[in-house]
Order: sequence, then C-alpha cells, then structure tokens
Amino acid sequence: MNNKYNNPRIKPIYPLYRLNKEEFRIGAQLGITAEFGDPDGHLWELASRLDGRNLEHVIKDMIETFPELSRKDIIEGIDLLNNEGFLEETFDKKNDEIPQRYMANVNYFSRYIGTDGNRFDIQRKMSETTILLLGLGGGGSNILTLLSGLGPKKIIIVDYDKVEESNLGRQLLYKESDIGSPKCQAAARAISQMNAQLEIEAHNVMIKSAEDVLRFTDGVDLVICAIDEPPFVAQRIVNQAIIKANVPCVFGASQVSRGRVFTVIPGKTGCFDCLNLHYSLNDPQFIEQFVAFRNINFDPPTIAYAPAIYQLTAAIVDEAVRLITGYAPPRSLSTQYEVNFEDGSSFTHPSWKRYADKCPTCGEGDAKNWEIFSYYETANKV
Ligand SMILES: [Zn+2]
Repeated sequence: MNNKYNNPRIKPIYPLYRLNKEEFRIGAQLGITAEFGDPDGHLWELASRLDGRNLEHVIKDMIETFPELSRKDIIEGIDLLNNEGFLEETFDKKNDEIPQRYMANVNYFSRYIGTDGNRFDIQRKMSETTILLLGLGGGGSNILTLLSGLGPKKIIIVDYDKVEESNLGRQLLYKESDIGSPKCQAAARAISQMNAQLEIEAHNVMIKSAEDVLRFTDGVDLVICAIDEPPFVAQRIVNQAIIKANVPCVFGASQVSRGRVFTVIPGKTGCFDCLNLHYSLNDPQFIEQFVAFRNINFDPPTIAYAPAIYQLTAAIVDEAVRLITGYAPPRSLSTQYEVNFEDGSSFTHPSWKRYADKCPTCGEGDAKNWEIFSYYETANKV
C-alpha cells in the first residue's frame, strides 16, 4: 500500500492540455509550465484521471485500461507529476468552515503546497493570528485594507492622527465623511464594514516610547511597524519593544521612489540596533551621515503616491503572511528588501547579523560603547 497519496489531483490552478499525440503540458505560465514527452500516452491518461478521485480507483482504472502497467509504474508516474509540483490532495469536503471570501487565498497558496501539505491550513493559520499594526497613515491604512482580505483573527490598530483631506489621495480606507475623525476610529469603522468576522481593537495613542508599544503586545503574534516618524527613532523604539515582548516585527518605510521592508525575529535575526552596529562597523561615513541628516531636521512634503505605496504595502503584507503561515520563505530576514517603484524591480541589501555580544537591545552589549546611540538620545523627540 502507498500512504503518500489519498485523493491526488492536478492542481486546478494549472491547465492540462495535449499538444499532440506524444506530448502534453501542465501549466501555462512562464516558469511553471512543464512539457511531458509521452509516446505511449500512458502519462496523459494517468494525469487525466488525477482529478481528485481516490488513488486506488485511479490505479484500478489504469491497470484495466493498460494491463501492461503495474501498480509500481503508476505510482512512479504520479511521483513524476508530484515532483514537478503539480499535484495536491483534494480534501475539499473537510474544509467547509473556511469562508468563501478566503478561497482565492487558498487557491493562491495551492501554488506552494504539495501533496504533503494542506493549503487550507495556511488560511487557518491566518485566521488564528493576532496582529498589532502601528500607524494608520499612507502605509498602515493600506496595510489594514490588505489584511482585512486575508482574515486574521484580530488586528490591534494604533494611531494618534485625525483624517485630513490631504490623506485622501492615498489612504484609501478613509472617506470624505471621516475628515476630522481619529484615524483609528475611522479605520475600525471601515474594516468592520469590509469584514465583520474580523475582530478589531482601536487605540488612539501616540507611540513615544517602547512602553507605549508594550501596552499592546500581549497575545500578539506579529507586529507591523508602519510608523517612520521621526525617522530611525520610531523604528528604534518599536524594535526595543518587540525585542522585550519577544514578538516578530515587519518594518516598512517609503522613500522617494523606493520602499524598504525588513523583519526582526527576536533572538534569531539581527535587530534594528544590530543594523546600527553593522553600519557603525562597516560604513565609515555612517555616523557622519546620520548626524548631518539629523541636524537639518528634514521635514519633506508628503510624496506618497498611491500606486507606489501599494507596491510597498503589498510587499509588507505578503512578508507578514509568509512569516505567519510559512507558505513561502520570508524575503526580509537579516536583510532589507527594497522595492523600486520606478521599474517594479526589487533586490535585497547585504545581510546583517545579530550581534548577540555587542547589541544593547537584543544582546549583552552596552549602548555606551557605540557612538551612534548617543545621537539617537538627542535625536528629534517624538
Ligand atoms: Zn540587536
């Protein structure tokens, strides 16, 4: 007996089509299409039967049609298709509790999950997750919209701002009627209309210290940091909190025509202060640049353009889903994942390590030993 397959099927996300009597294809997208040479037509006949029926039925039917084939031959044929990533287990009936609104997510995860996994479990993991989202501006408000379609159990949102007319070009969660309302209230209202199954907890709070973040981290599985003001200081505060709370955090920040994402997993990856150490050790101009930038109190006009910000927020939320569910490997661990809005490309920066013996925040180090942290102390206070 073979326990590897129960009701295997060609993933419905892929077309199965015959080019001629000796060749067929599965898939139509560049990069995930395979062409099979099949002079005797056996593999085509087998693939055509892999539609969710029970393995034993498939084997019986194949042997009746092609008596020259053995059970072993048929399993080898199934293995061949499975090794190419084209098969999954069917189990539709056991997953009725997954709301229809999330089925397209499940189908997307199907690309990544083979016969040894369960694409429905990926969505289930999302639905058991509590996320703390810090900031509801250009980044956070759109991140929240994306999260509502992914169906986490609960989202805790924190912001202190009010909705202004100038937000409406890119913070598409808010309506004209929200102008003047606290963003956290307007956002909670909007999300409850988008997805009533989602539990939302809103706090009208300005994050000024790690303690302000730690008020909200109990029971949280993942933090998304969408606050970046004052630059660097905000991320450092949040980093201190998530290390203390031992909760992973995805950080995102937008620049002029690019955005960056990086993730900190406490005790595993380098933290934001490890990045400060990394630059201190490897970039001779780091301190000079940091101080010069700080000294001009740079306060640029908002340059967030919605189609650009969506590229960044999509990368942030996808990274969050990767971390929560493991459907695919995260892209921003120990590195900064940078999205270029101008040409849609992305790349990762050189990685930085965790300085367990030197970092004052996630390790045993002392901030006094590092010049850079003295400038944070005097940087723009929130
Ligand atoms: Zn560190």
